[in-house]
Amino acid sequence: MCFLKNVKTDSISNILRNYDLCSYCINRLMPKNFIKKDSLQIRKKQFKKAKKELIKKCFICKNIFEKLNPVLNNIYEKTSNYDFKTFQIGITLQPSFLDRDDFIRSKLKIHGTENIKFGILTELSKKISQRTCSVREINEPDLFIEVILKDESCTIRSKPVFVYGRYNKTVRNLPQKKNICKKCSGIGCHNCGFNGVLNEISVESKISNFLKSKFECSTIKINWIGGEDQYSLVLGNGRPFFAKLNNPKKRNYVLRKKSDQRGIYLSELKKLKHQPKGFIPFKSEVDITVISKSPINLSKLKKLKILEKNQVQFVSKGKMISKKIYHINYKKVGNNTLNLNLLLDGGIPIKSLIETNDVTPNISHLLENICRCKKFDFKRILI
Ligand SMILES: [Zn+2]
Ligand SMILES: [Zn+2]
Repeated sequence: MCFLKNVKTDSISNILRNYDLCSYCINRLMPKNFIKKDSLQIRKKQFKKAKKELIKKCFICKNIFEKLNPVLNNIYEKTSNYDFKTFQIGITLQPSFLDRDDFIRSKLKIHGTENIKFGILTELSKKISQRTCSVREINEPDLFIEVILKDESCTIRSKPVFVYGRYNKTVRNLPQKKNICKKCSGIGCHNCGFNGVLNEISVESKISNFLKSKFECSTIKINWIGGEDQYSLVLGNGRPFFAKLNNPKKRNYVLRKKSDQRGIYLSELKKLKHQPKGFIPFKSEVDITVISKSPINLSKLKKLKILEKNQVQFVSKGKMISKKIYHINYKKVGNNTLNLNLLLDGGIPIKSLIETNDVTPNISHLLENICRCKKFDFKRILI
């Protein structure tokens, strides 16, 4: 909406006489529908004058509209590596531009027309759209372009890509997550290249490197559906994970469903529009090998059946948690060795369930024997 309140022709002509304005600013401030015939003539005259006398500086914009090419070239160069169909743009403009714009607007008593910032945004957007075959979009654009007009610089940020997948782990002695640097406890130091984490091979590093190479993103945050020990295998249909890929350059990459990453096999890979929020409940089927200090007593072994369809309790992050064991199978395979197969809620600490009083009831307590979890492998993860 635009309102020209009691603007007298001579006030417009006075302004135009006293202040040099460029054609962009005249067009911006005085949409022709709202201008009386006389003033339109003046506007046209001034428009021609402004076009001829480019040397003269526009009082409001200091001819900034004529000088957008360097910043546009900067934008074209920086965005050329990105896949995008939509973009949004933000600019930082020195306050003096807005002050001068307000000053002229108040003299002309104009409200509601484009202010200078909006005018520059419109101009930049139009050019970027034409050049890159993309459209400006306010909600969730593929790309966010931030321009500082003072030094003609720009920074580019792209919308994250979300990936869902499952992984199978077929080798032992491979941690799930990157280890936090012990020298700096994750703050960042020379030892860890200021990353806070060690650059050792892990499931996380393998998945991250794979996705980074495909989407050319800066960082990846993985949301794991449960975890395992570095010696555990993950078999069956694999463990689900959700990855958030920050600042990806190649968002159009067509992700194949499967990928073999030597020791880690990825499946069900697909791009998601959004990442699910909050905790995702899941169940795990686990094969566990237990070693006991004393020989295993067969009659005591039967007591393990009370775990079936029952809850176990443990404290996590200061809270008492109760989770269910759905199914238990056991087999004595040596005097001091026991194989267990459990179907249980995700989040139950497996080692503690075997070894310590942190989980009640627990296997050592039920068998009245000091038990140690030699290894545990995941056979299935259900979500
Ligand atoms: Zn101007
Ligand atoms: Zn460090």
